[in-house]
Amino acid sequence: MRTVYLNGDYLPETEAKVSIFDRGFLMADGVYEVTTVLDGKLIDFDGHAVRLQRSLSELGMGNPISKDDLLEVHRELIRANGIEQGMIYLQITRGAPDDRDFAYPPEDTPQTIVLFTQNKPTLADNPVAKQGIKVISIDDQRWARRDIKTVQLLYPSMGKMMAKAAGCDDAWMVEDGAVTEGTSNNAYIVKGNTIITRNLGNEILHGITRAAVLRFAREAQMNVEERSFTIAEAQAADEAFITSASTFVMPVVEIDGAAVGTGKVGAIATRLREIYLDESRKVAI
Ligand code: PMP
Repeated sequence: MRTVYLNGDYLPETEAKVSIFDRGFLMADGVYEVTTVLDGKLIDFDGHAVRLQRSLSELGMGNPISKDDLLEVHRELIRANGIEQGMIYLQITRGAPDDRDFAYPPEDTPQTIVLFTQNKPTLADNPVAKQGIKVISIDDQRWARRDIKTVQLLYPSMGKMMAKAAGCDDAWMVEDGAVTEGTSNNAYIVKGNTIITRNLGNEILHGITRAAVLRFAREAQMNVEERSFTIAEAQAADEAFITSASTFVMPVVEIDGAAVGTGKVGAIATRLREIYLDESRKVAI
């Protein structure tokens, strides 16, 4: 059984209980982060801590834990659960007032903070990275502040189910004719030596992996264009891939039934995955 963290306590997972009045439960009034663990160490902890603070600030929520304490909790959970490879899920909500109300509760309402580990022993050696994944396109029906990492994940969850029903692995969401992102990842195409991914804004989550991968791509003398692209452009690209904390760089070989490039995993996505894993491991804490 896992040891989890809830509001200052380390508990067996079955003993960690949250109120039925918690705003995360009633209103999706909460934010989250997922940080990857490789070799028992945290990948890009700083990036996740900075984005967490930004999500909280954008929603006018306090931060119940200092960055140092947050790091300590992550490390203690890695230790207590013997995690070599996997993820740490963190969620902070506006807390549990004594009744349901649309208005925010008083500022002094204690927030809820939960962290738990997910053990994934084959995360880095994921065989799927050698095959690539297939995606479908779907309409982007999420709210307009996707830059805030809220726990309001029903539409992405529906998107994964639509992909599954179509015999695919994930869905790329499209708004006004352009791809925004994957249901839980950022989306990229490759044309020649150029990597194209949507520019940052309120329309997409500012991926921590995205920032790192674009930096490594530039360092490796690849061109990076941060701009919108269509599904038709993606289908005609040489390669496509996604990034996220837990999938790293994952090739996409098919979009809406059309093979991308050769229909096989591409050289650039493969190289970026290797660089990302190597470089991230070097600076893991
Ligand atoms: N976009 C969305 C919608 C996501 O849910 C995620 C992962 N949580 C990402 C992008 C990738 O972000 P990161 O690289 O920080 O995991």
